[in-house]
Amino acid sequence: MSRINGFVGRRHFLKFAGLTTLSIGGITACNGIINNRAEITIPDINPNPNPVSANEAQRRLVEGNRRFSNQNRQYPNQSKRRLQSVAKTQYPYAAILGCADSRVPPEIIFDQGLGDLFVVRVAGNIASNEAIGSLEYATTALGTQIIVVLGHERCGAVAAAMKNEPVPGNIGTVVDGIKPTLNQNQQRTSETNDDENAVIRNIQFQIEKLQNNSAVLTKLISNGRLRIVGAFYDLDNGKIQFLN
Ligand SMILES: [Zn+2]
Repeated sequence: MSRINGFVGRRHFLKFAGLTTLSIGGITACNGIINNRAEITIPDINPNPNPVSANEAQRRLVEGNRRFSNQNRQYPNQSKRRLQSVAKTQYPYAAILGCADSRVPPEIIFDQGLGDLFVVRVAGNIASNEAIGSLEYATTALGTQIIVVLGHERCGAVAAAMKNEPVPGNIGTVVDGIKPTLNQNQQRTSETNDDENAVIRNIQFQIEKLQNNSAVLTKLISNGRLRIVGAFYDLDNGKIQFLN
């Protein structure tokens, strides 16, 4: 097996993670055989030799965002030395499920550097199957112990879901991933507070999807090795508020 712990293919991932059986949503895949066993196995120990607790990770994120919003960024872990130190291994201390919006880049708004954050970005920060798989990888193979679902003010994807009108092409897949969050009354309004409330409801909905659709994440949470939290980014002042 390669010593590099980046994306090394499913077989190496399973070997690295110590997984012999992987079950998602009650369906178990093992050596190409699909059956309905509910068994799920995760590594006994965190693969990170120096794991960062969820508390410490959240503290770093809060501090980093404070630096960013105060125009006091330190640009940590962006030197050539850091580049070389993480070239062959990575143990990001936090995973972010964020929106693809150009105004919400996690490494910048949390003032972090190379190898710090495992970032999954998709419009509306929706917990798609691909996003869930990526986050399962971060938490089992890389030892990340916190997932932040990061929504933001004036999210176009949430606004589109609230409008509840036809959209072209595959944009509908994004909107459909958000729509269950909103009831009919909320879909009709465009007031600012309702916009913010809809974003927060969407964050909570995507957290529920992560918890309900991933046996891997659920097991890590029950073992005290993972916390999933929501956070809201204010486009006007650059501040992030953690929701729980
Ligand atoms: Zn957005």
